[in-house]
Amino acid sequence: MKPSLHHKLLNGYFEDPCLFIRILREKRAILFDLGNINRLKLSDIYKITDVFITHTHIDHFIGFDTLLRAILRRDAPLNIYGPSNILSCVEGKLKGYTWNLISEYPSVINVFSYNGRSLTHSVFRAKNSFKKETVGRSKSDGVLLKDPMFKVKASALNHGIPCLAFSIEEEFHINIDKDLLQKKGFIVGPWLTEFKRILRKKTVEDMILNIDGKSYSISQLRDIAMITKGQKISYVTDIAMSEKNIKKVIQFVKDSDILYCESYFLEKDRERALERFHLTAKTCGLIAKKARAKKLAVMHFSPKYRNCPDSVIKEAMEEYSK
Ligand SMILES: [Zn+2]
Ligand SMILES: [Zn+2]
Repeated sequence: MKPSLHHKLLNGYFEDPCLFIRILREKRAILFDLGNINRLKLSDIYKITDVFITHTHIDHFIGFDTLLRAILRRDAPLNIYGPSNILSCVEGKLKGYTWNLISEYPSVINVFSYNGRSLTHSVFRAKNSFKKETVGRSKSDGVLLKDPMFKVKASALNHGIPCLAFSIEEEFHINIDKDLLQKKGFIVGPWLTEFKRILRKKTVEDMILNIDGKSYSISQLRDIAMITKGQKISYVTDIAMSEKNIKKVIQFVKDSDILYCESYFLEKDRERALERFHLTAKTCGLIAKKARAKKLAVMHFSPKYRNCPDSVIKEAMEEYSK
């Protein structure tokens, strides 16, 4: 199966956590957390349309200025999702600059804050000198973004302050049976992208697709597509080891194809982990195991283990594979 979502951590174990996800075949990308993004090429930063912030500690939000600068003249809006205080944090960042010469710029920043029950939407437009405009509030079950191809969900957790965990799930995955395609006399081309786009809609059988000047109904083509369960990628960081958090997060990341999870402290420093509202590597492994995650990617280690990152990885992986 050729995945549609390409994901990679931008930084090392001891640097800012930040997951970059490319939506293949759409010139578009999303970010989970906005720490230092300087390792991204400018062309990749430009593709970012949606950013999901777990919480606004500096290591998770310091990349805002780099991103803002890259998209300042872009037509496509930037959407930022985060916990309750995200709106005042974005507003504060924007207030840190003077905006008298941008009234011709098209850029728009939508900010959505999620408190576990509802989603509040505000907007900042360049043409309005990035002054806050309130759009409204609606009830939310945690689905922050619904796209025809995927959805991004949040779970409201606790890190001494409100903190969100995220997952991105493909609705379903479409693979093309290339042998059957050839047998039927079709040639691979851009029409396949359109075909997949139509399949993602619900009622498709009577739709007509034009291939090399000939018309075909979708039902004539349907058997070249193999539909399987889509990818699920989850991202959990900076959460307290309370029973409530752990129970909730296991449920949230259930059956992920890959779970990115913090391993901030070693189990021998459990007391410190409790004080700082972080997970230990062992608890990270336990969450991945109980959630039956197919793969675990550990991240975000305390600098105190700078000389022994392998011991953090080992502790998490041993618990995961028990
Ligand atoms: Zn952190
Ligand atoms: Zn934090």
